[in-house]
Amino acid sequence: MGLAWAAGVALGTFASSTYFLSRKPRSPDSISESEENKATAQILEQIDRQFTITPSKLQEIFHYFIKEMERGLTPEGSSMKMIPAFLKSIASGSEMGSFLALDLGGTNFRVVRVLLEGQGRIRTNQKKFVVSDELKTGDGEKLFDFFADCVSEFMKEFSMDVKETYSLGFTFSFPVKQLSISSGLLMEWTKGFSASGVVGKDIVKIIEASFQKKGLKIKVTALVNDTVGTMIAETYKDANCVAGVILGTGTNAAYIEKVSSITKWEGEDKTGDMVINMEWGGFDDHKKVLPVTSYDLELDNSSINRGAQIYEKMISGMYLGEITRLAVADLVRKKLLFGGKISTKFETRYKFETEYMSRIERDHSSDLNDTKSVLEDIMEIPFTSLQDRRIVKRICEVVAIRAARLSAIGIAGITSKIGRLHGCTIAIDGSVFERYPHFSNRMRDAFVELFGMQADNIRMVLTGDGSGVGAGLIAAIASKTQ
Ligand code: ADP
Ligand code: MG
Repeated sequence: MGLAWAAGVALGTFASSTYFLSRKPRSPDSISESEENKATAQILEQIDRQFTITPSKLQEIFHYFIKEMERGLTPEGSSMKMIPAFLKSIASGSEMGSFLALDLGGTNFRVVRVLLEGQGRIRTNQKKFVVSDELKTGDGEKLFDFFADCVSEFMKEFSMDVKETYSLGFTFSFPVKQLSISSGLLMEWTKGFSASGVVGKDIVKIIEASFQKKGLKIKVTALVNDTVGTMIAETYKDANCVAGVILGTGTNAAYIEKVSSITKWEGEDKTGDMVINMEWGGFDDHKKVLPVTSYDLELDNSSINRGAQIYEKMISGMYLGEITRLAVADLVRKKLLFGGKISTKFETRYKFETEYMSRIERDHSSDLNDTKSVLEDIMEIPFTSLQDRRIVKRICEVVAIRAARLSAIGIAGITSKIGRLHGCTIAIDGSVFERYPHFSNRMRDAFVELFGMQADNIRMVLTGDGSGVGAGLIAAIASKTQ
């Protein structure tokens, strides 16, 4: 299977370059044209070589991933934090009541009211707010006061009684050292956040102080990672769900582990299960096995968390566009694209969004019209030839295929480690998984290479509102036990 795939990729590359060699109309200047095509084929080959994860490389990373999972559960630790989430029971489907939930994922902040009606039935109301860069990187207290303002506005809009006490689940998707289900210290900011005075502090205390200032009687009964929320939301419907994965602004996963396998666990009860927030974005920060290119290094060097979250930087929505931009800009600099002419916008960091890659990959028109519009109208490149646009499209493809294969390794690692290759459900949330064309099929190809026929036993489901519903559910589970 693996070999067949490798051949497929190689053929795909050559086939696509020959395709436009033969389709191009003949011109009198055919010698220089064929030289140009040869040069293009060479560029594509070089790009492919840098970004392709071969079947044997896939195996190597997969085995190392499992090792790092295991090491992360011991007192020694590993590149993945493997944080016990202080959650021992999963949703049974019978939870009832009305709860508030907050979701801070990276790009948006959401306030959600979750009505649990039992028998797996849920109703929600929600409102989205945009967190400005100024708030993300400014004073921490202002950031949390802003969250309290949003809750206040939400309660007004949905005519909720502000004098009543509400239980709230807070989905806070950054590395947190969990102290209990309802407290935890922020270990570090990721995904472009750097608000001051928050690292090392208890997130629940900070947000409750902001609620108090606004006169809101809200008790945070659960502090949750979005991966955990996503998994729990799915377990409300499907008892086979063993993991929650985020493929959005950032990437991370949570899964159900046996407490007896967590040798670093110091709690008294060593029986049963425990949800682990892996913080898998940190996998292999030492770059022992990850196939980093010069573009990945360049991205990392100019990021605000240099040297950290290397795996996340190769997979998630915040970064895929930027990797592509760096690769394209490099070719322009070498005068191999756009006649050597670029725009100020294209040269600006993070201006080429992952969403544009989606558009380009979805563009199947013969002259790549939509790609032209992304490059020329949005990115302000003065001129692109069809050949240029084909090269850009191929770069988008290889960057996204690599991301899909790397994230598949993570899921394969979990499923294999906990012995669920005979059947399990993985709950997935995030715009990259939801909206990027072919993303899940490309992940599936990697599962097939790793597991053959057994790949079919891994069921991936999009769990859209995992972080909102999940946080409400965990608040419900937690209020039962508190
Ligand atoms: P969050 O991670 O903040 O909860 P999302 O799951 O919506 O939010 O992910 C947002 C990320 O998804 C952004 O980094 C954005 O670049 C990316 N994204 C948004 N739309 C698309 C799309 N159509 N295709 C690929 N990526 C997208
Ligand atoms: Mg999210």
